[in-house]
Amino acid sequence: MIIVLKPQATEAQIQHVIDRVEQLGLRAHLSRGTYRTVIGVIGDESKISSEPLEAIPGVASVVPILPPYKLASIEAQPEPTVVDVAGVKIGGGHLAMIAGPCAVENVERMDAIAGAIKAAGANILRGGAFKPRTSPYAYQGMGEAGLKVLREVGDRHGMPIVTEVMDPRRVELVYRYTDMFQVGARNMQNFNLLTEVGQTRKPVLLKRGMSATVKDLLMSAEYILSEGNSTVVLCERGIKGFDPATRNLFDVAAVPLCKSLSHLPIIVDPSHATGRPDLIPACALAGVAAGADGVHIEVHNCPEEALSDGPQALMPNQYAELASQIVRLAALLGKSISTCVAVAGRT
Ligand code: PEP
Ligand code: MN
Repeated sequence: MIIVLKPQATEAQIQHVIDRVEQLGLRAHLSRGTYRTVIGVIGDESKISSEPLEAIPGVASVVPILPPYKLASIEAQPEPTVVDVAGVKIGGGHLAMIAGPCAVENVERMDAIAGAIKAAGANILRGGAFKPRTSPYAYQGMGEAGLKVLREVGDRHGMPIVTEVMDPRRVELVYRYTDMFQVGARNMQNFNLLTEVGQTRKPVLLKRGMSATVKDLLMSAEYILSEGNSTVVLCERGIKGFDPATRNLFDVAAVPLCKSLSHLPIIVDPSHATGRPDLIPACALAGVAAGADGVHIEVHNCPEEALSDGPQALMPNQYAELASQIVRLAALLGKSISTCVAVAGRT
């Protein structure tokens, strides 16, 4: 890291900074410029944090060279992480095709949707049993009964499943059923939840908070990685914008940005990003073209009856058309879509 001193820093203050750096077991390299004096810190930067140094009198700012998300950073691991979700690979040239209804509603509906999306090329089935709703009066999900339905239907159609966990106290329960945890946008900074899923060894789909920066997202991933769970897939699902024409603002630049900063796979969710079936296909393709490792799309066979997010659901035939376009784009980009022959089952 580089410590930039204030123009009026005294000699005593400069010496004090050098002494502190050396006390911490690192070497200090003083460089006096015409306008500014800076101190280069040489050694293992991870041993010190910048905050106490910023508090030393005479210090203007501390510029870290390594990002604070150490394990998630590209510096820590230049080759891409490939996450295996019960046999389906995500990252390193493998695309996730996650699809399903917003909420698990009942077994018949889940079964019909799963059959249709599987035939269209989806490789992971989604559905929420615990729904984070803005209103406490809105449909909250089926709970454990929904997990059972999702598991049963996923097994029947040979698709691994992903479902949201909102509460650290429910991680154990959701773990028993799912192949991949989803941590939703509203819980991206629920640090207790991140720690709890980090202590498991099941993949985690970590969605970007609607007001979170890419750095915030990577810091949240770091919480999971630092607990020993290295199977994290990031998800760009739109951030708050000012234009109510779309539900959120699809930040497609976050895809190549994350790729430049981290080895973790990143997928896009144009359903929540746009909230509009007419815009979802273009944004899904844009995400894949920008380098995303997959797409996450809500599909319902009767959106008008959906208990959650019906207006943004694609119909199975619309999904099938989009999926065939993604397959063609994937081929053009030299990427593959892995399917799992049989669900590896719960571990
Ligand atoms: C969802 O996937 O249904 C969901 C609630 O997503 P998000 O957390 O991105 O809003
Ligand atoms: Mn939804």
